[in-house]
Amino acid sequence: MIKLFFILMALTLPLKWVYTVDETKCNGCGNCLYGCSEGAISLVGGDAWIDPELCTGCGNCVYFCPRDAIYRVWYTGVEGVEEPSGGLSLSANPVAAGSVVILGVEPCTEVLILDGFGRAVTHGLADPEGTLELDVSRLPAGSYRVVAGEEALVISVI
Ligand code: SF4
Ligand code: SF4
Repeated sequence: MIKLFFILMALTLPLKWVYTVDETKCNGCGNCLYGCSEGAISLVGGDAWIDPELCTGCGNCVYFCPRDAIYRVWYTGVEGVEEPSGGLSLSANPVAAGSVVILGVEPCTEVLILDGFGRAVTHGLADPEGTLELDVSRLPAGSYRVVAGEEALVISVI
């Protein structure tokens, strides 16, 4: 009977393995961004964050982390996606050629994208919802900093 219960649970829950980040170990180096082709990893508030809805559980990012900060957990989806609060986030990271949507910005704040030399390569103004879309299609592949007021995160354009 108990076995049957667990079998029924397994059939009804959208259970899957995903990977998550131990914030006490993560130093925000951003290496893991290069390991994820699903765009599931963002750097938010100085730490990596993996969107469980996008993560396929392939485990590739683990090999890119020098601090052993990424580990596997069961994700049922029933709690919904717990997004990091109070920080910038991106629609996808790494960003494939095209545009990137930046979320969680203070309304009407200017957002800059800086290259490795600290030069602003593009910029725009967040809307009253704290969102904006920036064209990154002409940027060479590489890492860039997205800066909005006091907050910053790293994006990889691929
Ligand atoms: S496990 Fe795979 S899909 Fe999930 S974050 Fe790591 S590299 Fe991306
Ligand atoms: S590679 Fe590891 S330490 Fe670096 S940002 Fe990713 S999880 Fe954090």
